[in-house]
Amino acid sequence: MGEVDLHLHTNASDGRLTPQELVRLAVGRGLKVIAITDHDTTDGVRPAQAAAAKSADLRVIPGVELSVDIAEAEVHLLGYWVDLENREFQRLLAWSRDGRVNRARQILDRLAELGMPVDWERVRELAGDGAIGRPHIAQAMVEKGYVADIRQAFELYLGRGRPAYVERERLSPEQGIRSVLAVGGLPVLAHPAEIAGLEELLPGWVAAGLAGIEVYYAGYTPDVVARLLGLADRYGLVPTGGSDYHGFGTPDEALPGTVDVPREVVDRLVKRRFRLAS
Ligand code: AMP
Ligand code: ZN
Ligand code: FE
Ligand code: FE
Repeated sequence: MGEVDLHLHTNASDGRLTPQELVRLAVGRGLKVIAITDHDTTDGVRPAQAAAAKSADLRVIPGVELSVDIAEAEVHLLGYWVDLENREFQRLLAWSRDGRVNRARQILDRLAELGMPVDWERVRELAGDGAIGRPHIAQAMVEKGYVADIRQAFELYLGRGRPAYVERERLSPEQGIRSVLAVGGLPVLAHPAEIAGLEELLPGWVAAGLAGIEVYYAGYTPDVVARLLGLADRYGLVPTGGSDYHGFGTPDEALPGTVDVPREVVDRLVKRRFRLAS
């Protein structure tokens, strides 16, 4: 059990817990530093910080998770300490969330063609005010009895290359990196082990200003961690990490703090941040 978890979702996107509930869980699990990293929204950050302020000794780093466009791979970019008030950045996030709505509707069209109609109203309801994502659709499919659980929904229908998969318009990785940097944030590559051709892609992203790479992540074996640490070293990237907890409640889900992230990671990130700012 670690004290640091820099990748967490709330119901501002596809997580299940409110920011307040997530903070309560983090405090209960003995965490000292967390980051809220919702997909294409920062709406969960302030409520989490307000809740943490009441519970004394938990620090909440503002963050966001962007999906960027790479053929044939799911590439996500975390942004830590992005300026929550920046209008242009918020417009970019809103554009991205609009794309999520359009894509979700297209996915439902595909599912209907596949003989699995899902009510748009129900998906909308599951997403609440938050950024809509495939997990909301997966949940609606579970409710309809089409699949046993969220994982199966992705494996059979919603995952990349599966029959109900639909692309959406996204920034290029370089554009994503630059938009995070432009608002004072630190761009960090999320769950990179799954990216085919990572070694070839990294140098360009480092040149664009990538600051870190997730090394400690749910399910990463010591071998994978060692390989990613090697890459972090080679390119001068801060090795970060987190559980990517969503509160799905699935049996194999990593709970906040279960991924051991060294405390010094936070210091290195902070140093990097102030080096950039100066
Ligand atoms: P989206 O933001 O709509 O592209 O959906 C991406 C999200 O779906 C990820 O952040 C995870 O929460 C979830 N996800 C992706 N792949 C899987 C999977 N194989 N099983 C369960 N959840 C997944
Ligand atoms: Zn997610
Ligand atoms: Fe992700
Ligand atoms: Fe995530």
